[in-house]
Amino acid sequence: MRSYSDFYRRSVDDSEAFWAEQARLIDWQTPPEQILDASRPPFARWFVGGTTNLCHNAIDRHLDARGDQPALICVSTETGLERSYSFRELHAEVQRTAASLLALGVKRGDRVLIYMPMIAEATFAMLACARIGAVHCVVFGGFASGSLASRIEDAEPTVIVSADAGSRGGKVLAYKPLLDEAIRLSKHKPAAVLLADRGLAAMDLVAGRDHLMRDLATQHRDALVPCAWLESTEISYTIYTSGTTGKPKGVQRDTGGYAVALAASMPHIFDARAGETYFCTSDIGWVVGHSYIVYGPLIAGMATILYEGLPTQGLDRQPDGGIWWQLVEKYKVTVMFSAPTAVRVLKKQDPALLKKYDLSSLRALFLAGEPLDEPTGRWIGEGLGVPIIDNYWQTESGWPIITIANGVEKKPGKLGSPGVPMYGWRVKILDESTGEELTTPNEKGVVVIEGPTPPGFMQTIWRDDARFVNTYWKTVPGKMVYSTFDWGIRDADGYFFILGRTDDVINVAGHRLGTREIEEAISGHGNVAEVAVVGVADALKGQVAVAFVVPRNADGVDGAGALALEGQIMQRVAEQLGALARPARVHFVTGLPKTRSGKLLRRAIQAVCEGRDAGDLTTIDDPATLQRIRQLLRP
Ligand code: ATP
Ligand code: MG
Repeated sequence: MRSYSDFYRRSVDDSEAFWAEQARLIDWQTPPEQILDASRPPFARWFVGGTTNLCHNAIDRHLDARGDQPALICVSTETGLERSYSFRELHAEVQRTAASLLALGVKRGDRVLIYMPMIAEATFAMLACARIGAVHCVVFGGFASGSLASRIEDAEPTVIVSADAGSRGGKVLAYKPLLDEAIRLSKHKPAAVLLADRGLAAMDLVAGRDHLMRDLATQHRDALVPCAWLESTEISYTIYTSGTTGKPKGVQRDTGGYAVALAASMPHIFDARAGETYFCTSDIGWVVGHSYIVYGPLIAGMATILYEGLPTQGLDRQPDGGIWWQLVEKYKVTVMFSAPTAVRVLKKQDPALLKKYDLSSLRALFLAGEPLDEPTGRWIGEGLGVPIIDNYWQTESGWPIITIANGVEKKPGKLGSPGVPMYGWRVKILDESTGEELTTPNEKGVVVIEGPTPPGFMQTIWRDDARFVNTYWKTVPGKMVYSTFDWGIRDADGYFFILGRTDDVINVAGHRLGTREIEEAISGHGNVAEVAVVGVADALKGQVAVAFVVPRNADGVDGAGALALEGQIMQRVAEQLGALARPARVHFVTGLPKTRSGKLLRRAIQAVCEGRDAGDLTTIDDPATLQRIRQLLRP
C-alpha cells in the first residue's frame, strides 16, 4: 500500500506531474499542452489546450466495455417508480434530450436552467447540456418563484427544463405555476421551456414557448448527437452555494479540471470501482449531487442511484425507515454518500432497521455537508458496521478538501474530525486578524487554502471575477489566500476539526468559542436529538451562548422536566469547555430552521434572538421553525 503522506506531498510539491498523471484517468480528444496556468493568481487554469467532454467520459467511453450494465437507477418512493437505464439506454436518452435542446436553439456556451425533481429526465438534461457544450444551472426543485426568478436573471438561460411537479413525503408540489411566476418576475425570458410531464399536476402550456420533453424525444428518437469537444477551461456549469451565511454565490466550474478531479476522487477517496453501484442521497440541486450522483460515479463506470423521497418511506409509500438499506441490499451498493442531517432523521427510527438487510456489499458510508457530531457518527457506524467517513468540502471546491483517502492508504479516522487535507489542497490555519499561520497543534483559526487551487475548484463567480477575488481571497491581511469562512484546528497528528463558521464564532468576555464546540458537548447528552448554539449580544459579556435543543424524547420536557434537562446541559458544557461556554439559556423546540440542503441556519436564529431581521431566507426549508422560535422568545 502507498503512503498517503507521500502521495499528498507529491501533489503539492510536484503538482503538475501529479495532476498530469491523474489526467490520464479521463479521455481527452486533444491532450493538454500545459498542465497548469497559474500566471494570474488567484485564478488557476488546468489542462490548458486539452479538449474533452464530460458526457463522453460519463457515458460514451463505457459503451464498449459495459454498455448493457446499469448506469442510472431511478427509485422514487414518492411515486413508487423504479427503473434502471443501462449505459446504452442512457446514451440514447441523453442524445434525444440533446437533440431537443439543439432544436430549441441552444448553442455551445448558452445556459440551460434546470428546475427539476429527482427524476431521470433531470439527469438526461444535465448530461445533454454537457454533451453539446451548453452550461447547465441546476436550481433546487421546489424553490419559491422569487429565488428562481433571481437565478433566471443571473443565468439568462436560452431554455429552462422543468417538470409538472415534485413530491415530498407524499405531498405534490406543482412546479409549473412556480416557474411561470418566476419567468414573469424575471427581466430575462427564456426562448423555450422543456417540460417533463409526470402526470402529477395539470400544466397550462404557453403556446410557442412550452414543449413537452416526451414529444420532442419522440421526434428525435434516433438522434445521434456527437459530443462537442470543449476546451478544458470552458464552463461546464454554474451552481449556487446553499445560502447558509447570506446571499448565495454563483459558483462557476470548468470542464477538464472538474472531470479529472472527479475521476481521481473515485479510486483515491471513495475506493470505488467500475461496475459497482454508488448511492448518494443528496439532490441534483446541490454540488454533492452534481459531483456524486451524476458525474463522478458515471465517469468511473459505476451505476448511480437517483433517489426521490424521504429516508423514511418505502416503495409502497408506507412509512419505512429501512428503505435506504433495502436499496443497498438490492443493488449491492458499495459506496454510499449522505449527510449528517439525514442520519439524524434515521436516528429517530428503530435502530433494528439498520440490521434488517444484508449490507455486506457496502464498504463505507461517506457523510458531508455539516459537522458530524460524535454521537451521530458513532450511532450510525455501530449500526451499519462499516467505516463512516466524514468529508469536508464546499460548493466552491467541487470535491472533498479534507477527508480520509482510503483508496490510497487505509488510515484510521477520528470521531469529530473529517480527516486530513486531500491531495492538491494546501490547507492552513491562520489567525484571521494577523494573517499569521498557526502551527501549534489545537490553535484555533480560520481554515484557508493557499493557491494554486487544484482541478475541480471553482473558476470564478459567474460573470463576476471581482466578487470572486474580493469575497474569497482578500479577507486575511497581507496574504492572498482563499478563505473557507470556517473556523478550525489541526491536532498534533495533522487531523483537522471544523469548529463552525467564522460568522458563528462567539466572543464571551474576550474568549473566542466555536458554536460547534458547544453543540458537540450538548449533543453528547442522551436526550438531545439536535442542537443549535448561537451567540447573542449581552451587555455584560459582549456575547453569551444560547442553545436551542430538539429533545429526543419530547415527553417530560415541559415544566420541571425542561428545567432539569436545561440544568444538565448547562453543567455538561461547563464541565467540558468551562463556565464561559455555558449557555445562558437552553430552549426546547420541536425543529430547527435549516436550508433546503439541511444546514442549520444559525444566523437566522441569532438574528431572531437579537430582535433583528432574519435576512435572506430564500433557501429556508421550514419557515415555521423560525416562527416558533420567535414566539418562544417573545417576552
Ligand atoms: P453559503 O456559502 O451560501 O453561506 P454554505 O456554505 O452552507 O452556504 P455549501 O457550499 O453547501 O454552502 O456548504 C459548505 C459548508 O458546509 C462548509 O464551508 C462548512 O461550513 C460546511 N461543511 C460541509 N461539510 C462539512 C463537514 N464534513 N464538517 C463540517 N462542516 C462541513
Ligand atoms: Mg459557504
